[in-house]
Amino acid sequence: MSSLLADAHRRLQEALKYVSISEDAIERLKYPKISLTVSIPVRMDDGSLKVFQGYRVRYDDTRGPGKGGIRFHPNVTLDEVQSLAFWMTFKCALLNLPFGGAKGGITVNPKELSKAELERLSRGYIEAIADFIGPDKDIPAPDVYTNEIIMGWMMDQYNTIRRCICPAVITGKPLSMGGSKGRDTATAMGAFYVISHILPRFGKTPPQTTVAVQGFGNAGSEIAELLGKAGYKVVAVSDSRGGIYSPHGLDIPSIREYKRKHMSLKGVYCQESVCSIVEHEVITNEELLTLDVDVLIPAALEKQITEKNAPQVKARFIFEVANGPITADADTILEEKGVVVFPDILVNAGGVTVSYLEWVQNRLGYYWSLSEVQSRLKERILEETNRIWQIHQELGLSFRTCAYIHALSRLNEAMSARGTREYYISQ
Ligand code: NAD
Repeated sequence: MSSLLADAHRRLQEALKYVSISEDAIERLKYPKISLTVSIPVRMDDGSLKVFQGYRVRYDDTRGPGKGGIRFHPNVTLDEVQSLAFWMTFKCALLNLPFGGAKGGITVNPKELSKAELERLSRGYIEAIADFIGPDKDIPAPDVYTNEIIMGWMMDQYNTIRRCICPAVITGKPLSMGGSKGRDTATAMGAFYVISHILPRFGKTPPQTTVAVQGFGNAGSEIAELLGKAGYKVVAVSDSRGGIYSPHGLDIPSIREYKRKHMSLKGVYCQESVCSIVEHEVITNEELLTLDVDVLIPAALEKQITEKNAPQVKARFIFEVANGPITADADTILEEKGVVVFPDILVNAGGVTVSYLEWVQNRLGYYWSLSEVQSRLKERILEETNRIWQIHQELGLSFRTCAYIHALSRLNEAMSARGTREYYISQ
């Protein structure tokens, strides 16, 4: 078995020690249900033809149609997409959403494409996977380096192929195409609800709590801003080109504005306005992960904290906004050091929860206000946070293992109801 998926499965094995699950369910959860690999030919602006590799994986759909984002990144592989689809399966079960887990991706560096090439690639991808997705089958959404504009192109292409107006086929769309209010900030908002609910239970309140955030995209920049607004001291942020650190705290709205205009945090490195707001030093991504802060928030990519740098991590709490940022080996080291880790399948579940609400609104044909969406998100994510907290109190296990135990019980229930050996024996 490939490495990332094997690593993901180790968390499942750990949880299986503490929960009684049907042998049938265990066997089924070992393998992705369907993995599709496609070649996407794209006419480039210079007239040449280039073929890109794309993937869509449905890991499990026992609890409902597949749900999961689409990633555009040069490191996308089938292994990565299968792992992300595996995590989505547990995330949707954890949040009690009527979805299974899926994921998609294209191996591409989108920063090297023109806007028109990016549109042709996005439409070409949907052309290739149109029979595989659908509002009752598998519903994509944005992920790393994809956004609402790309989701809009994709939905439009699907509609053209199917000759329908089918907004529920994709979530994270522009509002004008049936998107939901609050979807753009949902991942960070969900993380914020979890963090601000949990930290006071450990005696951590905003003014004294320092935070470092790795990744300054959709999820990372928004969570940094929300925490800053709530009074937490965000002392470091980074993107793919490096980071900045100030023990006095950073002014996140100004940095976001600067990045929006100049496309990278690099511009913040002591040029012009932002530097005058607060003195800061330039740090590397590796340095950010081992800063002496109370809270570390990885919000970039997977496998950022490994057995190599885990011994140097000084944060007392880690909230995983990215999917899979900590390897299983690193998890063991962090646990021995007493670092409290809140897992991705809970912390970043705000995105898929509001995607679910978007899908419901598309099917209803009736749209909710921002406050209605946010209160539904808050209620759901805090209900499951409290449940995980309760399991943690009862069993004394890591929050990750407790989250998997909780999700596994729901998956097991759905699989058993469809008929397993144990289900029939107990009749
Ligand atoms: P994004 O493309 O908007 O941003 C990614 C950010 O990470 C960028 O700022 C990029 O510069 C930075 N980055 C890339 N490589 C880096 C590195 N080595 N070190 C530091 N920074 C690096 O993506 P996003 O939507 O914010 O997603 C980030 C993470 O959150 C991913 O793991 C994604 O799967 C997860 N997530 C996102 C959503 C969502 O709704 N957007 C939902 C759930 C989970």
